[in-house]
Amino acid sequence: MSAANITVSTGNDTMSGSAPASADAATNAPPAGPAGPQVNEMELVYHISLLILALIALLFVFRIPSMVARFTRSTEWTKGHIFSSSARDSSPHIVHVTREKEGMGMGSSDDSHTYYNHGSQPQRIDGKGLPTEQNPPPHVSMCPAFLRGFAAELRTRVLPGYSVNQVICVLVYLASWIYPTFYKCNPLSEPVRTGWIGVAQLPFIFAFASKNNVIGPFLGMGYEKLNFMHRAAGLIMVVAINVHGMGYIMKWVIKGTFQESIADPSMYWGLIGLISCDILYFFSTEGWRNRAYNIFFASHVGGFSLLLAGTWQHFEVTHPWVWAAIGLYSFDSLCRWIKTRIHTAVIRPIPELGMTRIEIPQITGGWRAGQHVRIRVISSGMGVYGWAETHPFTIASAPGPEGMIVMVKKVGTWSTNLFNMAKFGNGEAGVGRNVTVMVEGPYGGPGVTLPSSHSAAVFVVGGSGITYALAGINELIQKDLRGESRTKIIELVWTVQDPSSLVPLVPQFSAMIQSSVFTPVRISVFYTRAVTGKFPFAKDFFHPRLSLAPGRPKLASILEATISKTTTGTSAGTRSGMMVAVCGPAALADDVVNQVGKIDPTRRDEVGGIEIVEDVFGW
Ligand SMILES: Cc1cc2nc3c(=O)[nH]c(=O)nc-3n(C[C@H](O)[C@H](O)[C@H](O)COP(=O)(O)OP(=O)(O)OC[C@H]3O[C@@H](n4cnc5c(N)ncnc54)[C@H](O)[C@@H]3O)c2cc1C
Repeated sequence: MSAANITVSTGNDTMSGSAPASADAATNAPPAGPAGPQVNEMELVYHISLLILALIALLFVFRIPSMVARFTRSTEWTKGHIFSSSARDSSPHIVHVTREKEGMGMGSSDDSHTYYNHGSQPQRIDGKGLPTEQNPPPHVSMCPAFLRGFAAELRTRVLPGYSVNQVICVLVYLASWIYPTFYKCNPLSEPVRTGWIGVAQLPFIFAFASKNNVIGPFLGMGYEKLNFMHRAAGLIMVVAINVHGMGYIMKWVIKGTFQESIADPSMYWGLIGLISCDILYFFSTEGWRNRAYNIFFASHVGGFSLLLAGTWQHFEVTHPWVWAAIGLYSFDSLCRWIKTRIHTAVIRPIPELGMTRIEIPQITGGWRAGQHVRIRVISSGMGVYGWAETHPFTIASAPGPEGMIVMVKKVGTWSTNLFNMAKFGNGEAGVGRNVTVMVEGPYGGPGVTLPSSHSAAVFVVGGSGITYALAGINELIQKDLRGESRTKIIELVWTVQDPSSLVPLVPQFSAMIQSSVFTPVRISVFYTRAVTGKFPFAKDFFHPRLSLAPGRPKLASILEATISKTTTGTSAGTRSGMMVAVCGPAALADDVVNQVGKIDPTRRDEVGGIEIVEDVFGW
């Protein structure tokens, strides 16, 4: 951006840089404020924006080692960006050469329903029957060993859903804008400055929010993990624009020139921008987001369109910032269009879980476990507006010939309509239904974390968060079968309300346990509600390594047990850390993070460090 045309200073009290959008605006411009030292407003906020980009670049530098580790595998280059429909069957050949007794189940309750069985000693062989070479991925710890304690402190939650890390990021961002707000300026008597601060937020607001944003890939994180910065930038903009607008309105009212001043097109467009900004903020609050998502969404789209139009018409000098926001939005829209597929899916009800299973067999690859999609079900059965709504869901299957599976919990109107459609379907025996779906993605996921590069993986999930674990564990098993994994211990801890929730997933859990021939998967299900009536399972119903117990999981002892198994099962030189993946409500994620933070530093170092991957179903 050239600063050559910037001539106006704080002293003359208009948006500095060049001419106002309207020719009359210069004469109708707000009265001059107190004479002060010359400050080029536009240049000031431009340089602060550059400073913030430089800070983001600094964070990127810390991510480079993990990124290099991930992208040394050519297969990783194509994963996680765009869906494909040509899954190659890369199943390895496995032979079973001996039989031996398997280990004991992991019980954390006296009332555990577990039994033991015999397994076999498998071996990977190639097409000629010769043992195959293993090719595990490189492991690069997210932080050096001497900083692990500090990193654990940074992960500590200070507010529900907010870590120290996030609070620091917000404070640094805030401080970066407080400085130019007050630099040689009293924002109350010279409101032009806060106008610039507000306008300068626009590119950041769009960059932090868009699904395909330009910052996320450099930081190795999905858009949903950057949403807290979108909110911070948004809040700064709302405050700044209000101080700016109210400052002028007060001046005009005191001077008795309000009507005359606001009649100027550049001024009333400014007022339109201010009002749309406030409406946008009001409908963005948590209550609206949680209880009336559609109103939140519609007000966001409408509010931002008007805000951009208002800013554009307000003063011509704002155009580069508006262009930047439009550019980011256009890039996002283009990527969304490229990432969208329309297919016929099969939907089936899972009454025990209160969920609907969406099967999209045409999409067989292109995603990483832990990523989510945005789905629109184009059917009149979804309601008057429901067919037009797009909802995010974590992919519940690993890439493979069986295709993509998504599981949707019945919580509100949209998901209930979907469940009802599936229940009274047109499929086999009247259950299940073919519907047209628009699938956009994949988004989010583990970022630069390579789950299969860790010695141990623990999945702690609650309720419908099981979708994340199903995909994650199946992907680990597949990689392990191909000899592309370092993971030697896989634990799943699933908390549900009712033990009958387990019934529909028993076949899937059994398949996971049976196929995990090299790295035994252990599944512990906990139910929190008292059982009324007959217990849904016979004592000998369960598969080896699958247990069901009442109460909440004792996370501390589960994590410690996994560390012990890892340290006894592997030699110190080969240990490459433990990944703890958590998926479910924000409170569960907070609990897991706090429990991991309490692990004894010596034990943490013995296992090679602990990395947490979070997927929370909400913003
Ligand atoms: C990244 C991510 C992954 C998710 N994965 C799963 C999953 O695998 N399985 C599952 O059952 N649920 C998942 N969810 C939650 C799921 O998106 C919501 O439960 C669903 O959109 C609810 O829609 P509804 O109209 O039936 O309920 P509502 O009662 O309207 O909404 C319930 C909650 O969902 C939020 N919500 C509603 N509509 C949307 C939308 N269009 N976009 C984003 N949030 C919305 C609301 O803010 C509210 O908090 C995920 C959410 C996110 C953010």
